[in-house]
Amino acid sequence: MKSIAILILAATCCSGIAQDATKARTVLKLAAKSASGEVVAEALVDTNDAPDLADWGKEAGGLCVEWFPKINALLPSEGFTPPKSVTLYFDPKLKGVAHADKGRITIGADYVRGHTNDWGMVVHELTHIVQAYPKPEEKFTKPGWLVEGIADYIRLFHFEPNAPRPRINPDKASYRDAYKTTAVFLAWAEKQHDAKLVTKLNAALRQGKFSLELFKEATGKTVDELWAEFADELRAKQGTTK
Ligand SMILES: [Zn+2]
Repeated sequence: MKSIAILILAATCCSGIAQDATKARTVLKLAAKSASGEVVAEALVDTNDAPDLADWGKEAGGLCVEWFPKINALLPSEGFTPPKSVTLYFDPKLKGVAHADKGRITIGADYVRGHTNDWGMVVHELTHIVQAYPKPEEKFTKPGWLVEGIADYIRLFHFEPNAPRPRINPDKASYRDAYKTTAVFLAWAEKQHDAKLVTKLNAALRQGKFSLELFKEATGKTVDELWAEFADELRAKQGTTK
């Protein structure tokens, strides 16, 4: 069993954040350790620019150290050293929700204030840290819809297994819609055709070897054939016809 040790480090400076150099910044450091004392995950929480979110940040940091090993286990690939450290920075100026890059998740402070229950967002962003797909983003080796679909797949089917599923319109939606639609499609394809599909897609994306052909290699059907079958099942379930 893992125990979570919480340490507070005073005056730890975080690079890359505009700051008053004379003013010390304090980050909260949370770590999960294995039974032998090895740190298996750590989160540095920086709420210096949104101090009212200190408690929320602490919860989010705890969630990250709990889910880091789980997501790493769900998205393994050969020769890859899974990351185990993440910084959560709460940005008072960010207009959007959040973004993740190079071991750092930047979260919109205003977004959190209006969505205090959105822990799934943290898991989605943490999945991006684990994905660690190579740059530059190339349309054919790293399609954005799939990157976002896998992040929501981890969120919806592992972190929020009991949350209501999005209603998908089989006549308007596409596997390229990203986020929840792609996530639901991936989970369906795993259930119907290949339980290791997401693991395979993730490994190929991380190794820069992804192509749509992979769907056919894994399931025997092209991604378009899979989508057609998925959409037909949705129509049958929803009582609609094409
Ligand atoms: Zn995302």
